[in-house]
Amino acid sequence: MPPGPPAARRQRQLLAVAVVVGSGLFLTFWALLASDLSGGARATVSATGLLTAGVLAVASGAVRARWSTGGRRRAWGLLALAGVVALSSNVLNEAFPEAAIGETPVTDLVIAAALVLSITSLAYFTQVTRRPVDLAVMALDGLILGSAVLMIAASRVYDPLAATGGDVPLFAGLVIPALDVVLATVALVLLRRTRGPDRLALGLVAAGFIVYTMTDLGWAVRVAGGDESLGTQLDLGWIAGYLLLGLAAWWPVRVRDVPREVSVAGAEDWDTAVVFGVLLVAVLVEVMGEGAGGLLTLEAALWLFLIGGAGVRQGLIARENRHLRRHLEVQVRERTADLRQMGRETEVLLSSVADGIYGVDTEGRVTFVNPSGAAMLGYAVDELTGCLAHDVFHAAADDGVPFPAEDCYITEAVRYRIVSNGEEDHYVRADGATFPVEITASPLVDSETGDVRGGVVVFRDVTQRREVERVKNEFLSVVSHELRTPLTSIRGSLGLLAGGVLGDLPEPAGAMVDRALQSSERLTRMINDILDLERIESGSLALEVQPQDVDGLLAIADREMAGLAASRDVRLVRAAGCPAQVMADHDRIVQSLTNLIGNAVKFSPPGSVVELGARQEGDAIVMSVVDRGRGIPADRLETIFDRFEQVDSSDMRQQGGSGLGLAICRGIVERHGGRVWLESELGVGTTALLALRAAPAASAAPGSVAGSDQVGPAAVPAST
Ligand code: ADP
Repeated sequence: MPPGPPAARRQRQLLAVAVVVGSGLFLTFWALLASDLSGGARATVSATGLLTAGVLAVASGAVRARWSTGGRRRAWGLLALAGVVALSSNVLNEAFPEAAIGETPVTDLVIAAALVLSITSLAYFTQVTRRPVDLAVMALDGLILGSAVLMIAASRVYDPLAATGGDVPLFAGLVIPALDVVLATVALVLLRRTRGPDRLALGLVAAGFIVYTMTDLGWAVRVAGGDESLGTQLDLGWIAGYLLLGLAAWWPVRVRDVPREVSVAGAEDWDTAVVFGVLLVAVLVEVMGEGAGGLLTLEAALWLFLIGGAGVRQGLIARENRHLRRHLEVQVRERTADLRQMGRETEVLLSSVADGIYGVDTEGRVTFVNPSGAAMLGYAVDELTGCLAHDVFHAAADDGVPFPAEDCYITEAVRYRIVSNGEEDHYVRADGATFPVEITASPLVDSETGDVRGGVVVFRDVTQRREVERVKNEFLSVVSHELRTPLTSIRGSLGLLAGGVLGDLPEPAGAMVDRALQSSERLTRMINDILDLERIESGSLALEVQPQDVDGLLAIADREMAGLAASRDVRLVRAAGCPAQVMADHDRIVQSLTNLIGNAVKFSPPGSVVELGARQEGDAIVMSVVDRGRGIPADRLETIFDRFEQVDSSDMRQQGGSGLGLAICRGIVERHGGRVWLESELGVGTTALLALRAAPAASAAPGSVAGSDQVGPAAVPAST
């Protein structure tokens, strides 16, 4: 197991030390080589500098290899090995200065081997899926660029040298510079394809190789000119190259050297532009240069290699592109098939569903409608697409006034993102007939941008359900009606019996008759309630709406309920008087008030108080009944206005109610154009509020109406 890198702080400290040591060494050797020391002394300085920097680079690379894992470990290990090999050539050079000259360039061979090792190490720096084609293109880029740079050097430097009789050695002049350029190019290409924290370390490696390459090229020119002595400032390049590589090794390791290279599938435009740009320069230099010289055969071979290499490179890229295209085509085909399948499934789903479904755009135009929806509306699907849904099939109000588009749930969904659930409405068929529907409308929100792209409405024809309800109610009212007459006679007879008309009844019989009388009275109340409700819902309840004293109404209701309150030990209290008048049907509003007071009394604890009050709010009079009873859960405050709804199923038994009182009360108040609602806090009490329009100050003329248009809802404050 490798020991792994030290803590980040320690690594930063080590890097700082490396920077200080590296720059100190570089400046020292620079000062020495720039001084006017003798040639021999400077040569010794150079050799020492090379050895010192080289040893440091090797040691640093080895440490970094120990810190790293996987490919990085191998890369740094190979780089350190290349350093050892290169150093050994320096040592050889020093030990046997003659060996490099003549026919056996041993040290040059060793340097070449070090360069090949370095190139190999670079291949391990990239840990992305190393596809052979990527590596091949990268190596070819390096080779072509290296050869092209060499071509330029040959034309510009060696040719004139050869023309003046200068000698260009094969290794120092050609092979090593070529390998150098390949190395620097591969490092640059790799750097370009690397992202993440290692980029800077790799940048330093590339910089080191570039400095090295430039120095080797300078050396090649010097060697071609016959000068092979060390000790000039040129040698600083090698020293700097080693130091930069050493510094790269101390660059902090992140996340155990896990690299995050971006895989580059195929060569990119940049690489192609660089490769062909340099090639072009090489051709231009060749065309513009003198041409002739002793390197003609070699140049021809290089040209051949260049052109061949470029051809192979392009071939590889073309193959890669073909491969990519084929892969993409397969993907596109698969995705298209998936999408088609999804489309078919959605279509089947939409056309199989029995409910009508239509979508609208932000202007309310139908974008799609399912076959059931179109059939319910009596249109073909195509006829509806593009139409303004609200204008085409949203029915007008009962009085024939078109329903304003602004208040339509489609507009609310699209504009204000309001979801309407289970709302009742009427739609118009193509033949002009209307039918009742129950709808659910929601906004269509784009999941990515969050914008509303339109709305979707699901509707169901509830004609049949309504018909069933109507028949049921009719049946209920007929039965109730038929029951009323015999029940009145039963109640009368029981009343007479209980009143002792036939003499005192023996004790068990008397109690039994009392119970029977109470039950018959309850039954009568329920039948009356059912009949009232039926009349309200069928619209046949006639109202005598005229100005009524608010205090008078409350006083009557108070009086009627006094008996019940006393029997329950509950005190009815009237708050400060309200001298205003309301537009109301006297009997019906007293009926509503007595129901509210009755509930308050029934659900109040003995000894408590029920408070009756009234206040004027703008054009409306709000009458209130406040109790200190058990309260009503918030989620039931609305539902208990439905028929037969009670908070607790035991309420019917214990309090003798039927669950119809509030439904009747709301029916009556709404027929007045008023509003009735409850506010409550569990365990604290309930306030019933009944709002009606105040009578105009001068109004005295009574009006007999059965409609609700006398008192508009606008006059009544909304429930809080
Ligand atoms: P009924 O009183 O005949 O049962 P209502 O429609 O008048 O029918 O009332 C329905 C239900 O609402 C009652 O059964 C009771 O559960 C609840 N309720 C109404 N008023 C109050 C109140 N003031 N306090 C507590 N519960 C109430």
